[in-house]
Amino acid sequence: MARQPAAHESEPQASPEDGGSSLPTHLFRQAVEQAALAISITDARANILYANAAFQRITGYGQQEVIGHNESILSYHITPKLVYESLWAQIQRQRPWNGLLVNKRKDGNRYLADVTITPVVGKEGHTTHYLGMHRDVTEVHRLERQVQNQKTLIESVVDAAQVAIVLLDEQERVLLDNQEYKKLIGDLGKEPAVRLLAALRAQMGEAYTKAYEKHRNIAAREVFIETPNRPARWFSCATSWFEEHDVGADAFYDPQRRHYLLLTIQDISELKRQQEALRINSLRALLSEQERIQGLRETLAGALYQLEGPLNMLSAAANMMGRRREAGSDLPASGAIEEAIRKSREVLETLRACIPDQGKEAMQPVNLNEVLADVLKLATTSLLGSGIVVEWAPTAESAVVNGHPAQLTNLFKQLVANAVEAVNEQRGGQRELRLSCRSRPDHVEVFVEDSGPGIADELRFKVFQPFFTTKGASKQHLGLGLAMAQEVVSRHGGTIDIDPEYDAGCRVRVQLPFATGMNHAQ
Ligand code: FAD
Repeated sequence: MARQPAAHESEPQASPEDGGSSLPTHLFRQAVEQAALAISITDARANILYANAAFQRITGYGQQEVIGHNESILSYHITPKLVYESLWAQIQRQRPWNGLLVNKRKDGNRYLADVTITPVVGKEGHTTHYLGMHRDVTEVHRLERQVQNQKTLIESVVDAAQVAIVLLDEQERVLLDNQEYKKLIGDLGKEPAVRLLAALRAQMGEAYTKAYEKHRNIAAREVFIETPNRPARWFSCATSWFEEHDVGADAFYDPQRRHYLLLTIQDISELKRQQEALRINSLRALLSEQERIQGLRETLAGALYQLEGPLNMLSAAANMMGRRREAGSDLPASGAIEEAIRKSREVLETLRACIPDQGKEAMQPVNLNEVLADVLKLATTSLLGSGIVVEWAPTAESAVVNGHPAQLTNLFKQLVANAVEAVNEQRGGQRELRLSCRSRPDHVEVFVEDSGPGIADELRFKVFQPFFTTKGASKQHLGLGLAMAQEVVSRHGGTIDIDPEYDAGCRVRVQLPFATGMNHAQ
């Protein structure tokens, strides 16, 4: 049976051998007795000789219930044998051991003990006793695990997300990312977040700087990224900030905050492509409807013009007959002719009323760069089919005019269709179409050039007349295309002409005045 060390009031004072302390020995005992840590002293076989009050509090065993018992009274089978083996191997080498053991209280409840065992070595160099100290760290462990579980959960959710998520510090260094973001690195190169933030900055300007400095969130915005030799990509980007309190020891009494930027990126390129295809399709439908109306207008106007000739001749004949009647020589058919003229005029009026309206499209600022890009998209199939090389040079300055978007699109669509047809007429040689847009001091100038046979000098003005065609009596060519183009240009206060100096094919020049309040500097 182990004996509990007796406490004597008259214990000797500590000597220099005791570490130079001048404290009385009983003070050491009191300190151990009242310590908040569970402290026990065992013999060399782990039989308990002494246990302090905290030991009793934590384990539930009274002093007399543990004295003489082995420390294994606390062991719970869930702690692997290997742990005990390494514990013993360590302390038998006279080295302190520290580790976590699952202990069982007197009432059977388990707790996690952070245990430190220190061998007490006697004068002969043998381990005579062991000093055991432990504390209940169940709650700390629970919290640690909870944090770990939450971290794992958040990481799994973030990783499984269909959007790219990346966390950056204030220096835009990536701290955390997910699988979708890693895919973007493969597509856009390193570092996609930095590229996207730069694009966002360029797009938003001052507003971005302010939001960044004040750590304000930015709601989803569409960002366009161009990479050489790859299709352009669209992303929807949103930023949100959060702050973290510094966990370093220095910040315990002097809290420091760090700010982190969470960037979520959604690839919307496919959606954008679909939207663009939809827009081009509806534009195509709108234009063909407008073309149909325009064709009808021109045809009816042409027919009216053609019918008015003979009718005017009939009117002249009727006038002549009228004068004869006044002179007393009435012709029997004169009444019938006058009736026919009256009826014909009624029919002409009915026909005139049938001319469809131009459409109610309002005048608005129209960017000719965008119109021409759309026209090229609309003509893609015929350009590819004809093997025509296209050169497109938009202006870097403003190309905004005041106009009807669909009419202007139709105008350039007509000019491009003419150019394609002209190139197709040519056998061999260059097959080129060049579109360019330039800003002049008070107007925008567009050139449509083709490498076709060109237009003879004497026809440069005639080609703009209605029903004039160089293609013979082919039904497909009413000779209204350029006439319509001229009508649209005039309606917009501009001019259209064919460059007489150009001898490598045909070059049509369209000049349209800037929208009010716009000039080339804007
Ligand atoms: P055991 O059969 O007692 O031991 C398992 C393995 O430990 C054995 O295979 C053997 O390798 C090794 N071992 C056990 N006793 C000795 C020995 N005397 N010499 C060499 N190797 C040995 N255990 C706890 O579970 N909780 C505690 O809080 C705790 N505190 C301790 C404090 C001190 C100061 C010391 C010295 C030991 C303490 N122990 C503690 C260890 C304890 O004595 C037991 O070894 C352990 O509890 C395993 O007991 P067991 O009955 O499950 O297996």
